[in-house]
Order: sequence, then C-alpha cells, then structure tokens
Amino acid sequence: MKKLPQVLIVEDEPAIAELIAINLRHHGFTPVCAEDGPSAQKALDACVPELILLDWMLPGGRSGLELARHWRSQPRTKQVPILMLTARSDEPDKIAGLDAGADDYITKPFSIQELLARIRAVLRRCDPLSVGQVLQVGELRMDGATHQVSYQGEALKLGPMEFKLLRHFLQHPERVHSRSQLLDQVWGDAVYVEERTVDVHVKRLRQALGKAGAMVHTVRGAGYRLSANPA
Ligand code: CA
Repeated sequence: MKKLPQVLIVEDEPAIAELIAINLRHHGFTPVCAEDGPSAQKALDACVPELILLDWMLPGGRSGLELARHWRSQPRTKQVPILMLTARSDEPDKIAGLDAGADDYITKPFSIQELLARIRAVLRRCDPLSVGQVLQVGELRMDGATHQVSYQGEALKLGPMEFKLLRHFLQHPERVHSRSQLLDQVWGDAVYVEERTVDVHVKRLRQALGKAGAMVHTVRGAGYRLSANPA
C-alpha cells in the first residue's frame, strides 16, 4: 500500500493552517498541524514527516528560524526538507532562512497553487520517491508509486531496513558512503546502533538483490557504494 507523504504544518494562525491542511489533503498528502514550537517537536517525536512547512513568526519561545536551525542539527530531523512561510519579503531575512537550513521559502500571502508547486519541487529534489517518482541506477529500479524494487524487470523482495538502505544508495549512486554516514543518514534515530550492523544489512541487501547484489561495492577502508557497474 502506498503511504501518503506526511507534511507537518507549523503555523500559529488557525485559518491559514486549516486552509493549507485542506488543500494538502486534497492533493494526496497527510497534513499534521502544530501551532507552536513545542507542539511541533511533539509531532516530530511521534513521526518524522516527509516535509515541514514552517512559519517564521511563531508566538513565544523559538522563532521558525531557530526551529529550522535546531531541527537541522538533530539526527532525527536533519534530512527533512523545510519550506519556510514568511510574511517578510526582505532579502536578508530570506538569506537567514536559507542559512538556517530551510530548503526554500514562500512569502505570504501566497496562492495555494504556488505553495503546492513549491512543495512538490522541494520533495522532487530532496525525496523523489515520496512523490511517486522512480529511482533507477542501471537496471535496478525502485518505484515510488508502488514501492516495488526490481532488477531487469523482475520484482525483488527486500526487508524494511534493506529497502531504506537501497533507497539511500539509489538517491546517491556512485558515491562512497562510510558506515558512520550510513548510520547517521539511514538509521537516523537509532544512534546506538553499532557500525557492524551496517555490514549485516549490506550483506542482506546484496542477497536480496540477487544478480544486482554485485552493484553494491565494498570500498576498502572507506565504506560502500552503489554503482551501475557490477563489482
Ligand atoms: Ca505566524
């Protein structure tokens, strides 16, 4: 079954939050609303969304800018794309938002069509699978719409961790990933997992991939790499 991409909306104005939520639901997303920093953090602790829509001006406590900076520094949320909503159109503020780790921003008032287009653009760039695109390296494919993995047209069966690992490899092919990078970027939350665990799952992934297993290279002293060319 296809999971709808979840979007966390952090916005203190209920009318705006609701308008966004209704439109996101209409367009195949699962919106979750939070009206301030603490409730947004609670939502993130419960579930990591595919994208965060973050209002700049929030009541009390931390501003959207500080929240963006904080979430970027946390292993659990550092990969989640952030789209800032801002009433400010001043150039320095936009730059501050991007420097804090936002992937894009949109200035209020905005049209819902523009917001949706920007959400899709950010997701395509940061997480193509979540918007139903296909990740492909050589003849190895992962379909975002069905979550099917196949090689040379034949379906393969992967465990959940192997799926996540392959997804990461397919998003960054031909690049060497160290064990600690993989732990950080694929396991994320589970910071107490040993590096040895990575080796175990890479081995399982190779087995599950069958002939395509040879596309997962061991780079001695450095880590692992997925390549279109078998090792
Ligand atoms: Ca606000």
